[in-house]
Amino acid sequence: MIYLDHAAATPVDARVLKAMEPYFTDDFFNPSAAYLPAKKVSAEYEEAKSKIAHAIGAKQSDLVITAGATEANNLAFTAMTTRKCSSSSERSLAPVVTGLGRSVFSTSENMLLGREHSSRLLYLETEHDSVRRVAEQYGGLAVKVLPNGVIDLEDLKAKITDDVQLISVSLANNEIGTIQPLADISSIIREVKIDRYKRGVKTQLLLHSDASQALNLLDINVARLGVDLLTLNAAKVYGPKGVGALYVSHEAKLKPLTVGGGQEKGLRSGTENVPGVIGFARAVELAKEHLNGNRKKYTNWRKILLAELEGYELINKKHCLDNFVVLCFPGLDAERLIYLLEDEKVYVSTGAACAASKGEKSHVLAAISLSDDQIAGSLRITFGETNDEAQIHEAAKIINRVVAKERARVNG
Ligand code: PLP
Repeated sequence: MIYLDHAAATPVDARVLKAMEPYFTDDFFNPSAAYLPAKKVSAEYEEAKSKIAHAIGAKQSDLVITAGATEANNLAFTAMTTRKCSSSSERSLAPVVTGLGRSVFSTSENMLLGREHSSRLLYLETEHDSVRRVAEQYGGLAVKVLPNGVIDLEDLKAKITDDVQLISVSLANNEIGTIQPLADISSIIREVKIDRYKRGVKTQLLLHSDASQALNLLDINVARLGVDLLTLNAAKVYGPKGVGALYVSHEAKLKPLTVGGGQEKGLRSGTENVPGVIGFARAVELAKEHLNGNRKKYTNWRKILLAELEGYELINKKHCLDNFVVLCFPGLDAERLIYLLEDEKVYVSTGAACAASKGEKSHVLAAISLSDDQIAGSLRITFGETNDEAQIHEAAKIINRVVAKERARVNG
């Protein structure tokens, strides 16, 4: 088997599994219990959380453990307050001048003038459904990407009206691997905050980023990125599925999605998933250790694949994670290619695994202005730890063979 879909799932690393095992059996205690063995487990759980936090330049107390990235993304949005406007000046009809050298209009004026709705929440149009769907429920407004998949900063600036409280932009996209310039976004936010402060506008403005795909391949530091909320996902870094975390800065005040025993400072009640978090911490440690080596290796494999493949159009040319290769085979149906490749034991995908299973057109590929024909012919290849260089050569050979056969069939 040649598995080239590491953005969808990664196998649990043997070292991660080994670290987790005792916590299923010998050290099974509930960390909240009063006796000594439970206290030991509790201390080890906290220690594991510290390791995860330190890997992103945060403190243990800044992390809320969740059952995966979907939950972390949902939890992040509870930072929104229900208050619409915080000062009378925000409700005025006068144009609001931001610190960015242009005029933008407050919500009330946008509505009166029949302009595009302003919103309390902005999100990138290419976000994963666990951000997009929640954002839609909050009445969020989508920020556009440029044809290269990178956020359109001008569109972002134009949409930060005084009502906006939260902006959600993933660190790296899960379909095309595009890395977003978070530091630039956070400096725009800083300017807006200064401007709001000068004008007495008290609405909070937070930056959330879903870093599910990035932890493996980028050196993440919350201060450097300037984020207030950051989602992590163990399942994408050779850790267990159903384990994630949300970094929460002191500026963000969250509301729990579930209530109960008050674990995770009341933000995520429920008995702690001790083996999951121990495994997550080990996985993060390994990811850090291998970060630079893996990046070089994947960059080289990308070059090999692009040199050896034939008849494709490269979709993700720049600004993307090193392990992502998105290719379009014009005139062919990628869904069919996937099944034909599966017959050869090569596993690739058309995009997000969840969208692919529902047979939906990729909103990400549509957002980067690909035609329907290009979208229909696009394949996502994501390298990872299960691969070696020989597999990349072999995969190129098999893909070329399958594509040539399919092209001959299509052309009659
Ligand atoms: N965010 C991104 C960018 C993802 O790639 C995924 C999973 O594919 C998720 C969130 C959701 O993660 P989970 O299904 O583990 O909750």
